[in-house]
Amino acid sequence: MDNCIFCKIVAKQIPASVVYEDDDLLAFKDINPAAPVHLLVIPKQHVATLSDCTEEHTAMLGKMLALAPKLAAEHGINVKTGADGQRSGGFKTLINSGPDGGQEVYHLHLHVYGGARPWRGLGT
Ligand code: AMP
Ligand code: ZN
Repeated sequence: MDNCIFCKIVAKQIPASVVYEDDDLLAFKDINPAAPVHLLVIPKQHVATLSDCTEEHTAMLGKMLALAPKLAAEHGINVKTGADGQRSGGFKTLINSGPDGGQEVYHLHLHVYGGARPWRGLGT
């Protein structure tokens, strides 16, 4: 897709700090992080917004979400369970959709946030 910044990242026309890549997905560090760890997971195929997704996108959406805990573990923000059963760590996943959903880049992306709080502008 012409003039899509995330398609340009997929095409390696502009640089990004890539943390994961396979045939279908790319993940990279957000350029303006709102948390100590802030990653974006995108499909390589251009899909503008979650509102454009239908049942045919189920596998791709599942792959995007399933990648989040793998990336979280690699970046030390996965949920940990201590010997006493207490959980610690953890992360937040978010997809902004459309103007009212706060979407600024119209190439579908899943935010993965984690690390020591406070985080910027996430109401947590
Ligand atoms: P959203 O508001 O959900 O559309 O979020 C778009 C996100 O993309 C923001 O968090 C931006 O900081 C991030 N972003 C924009 N351009 C780039 C880029 N070239 N590389 C990495 N992240 C970017
Ligand atoms: Zn795109």
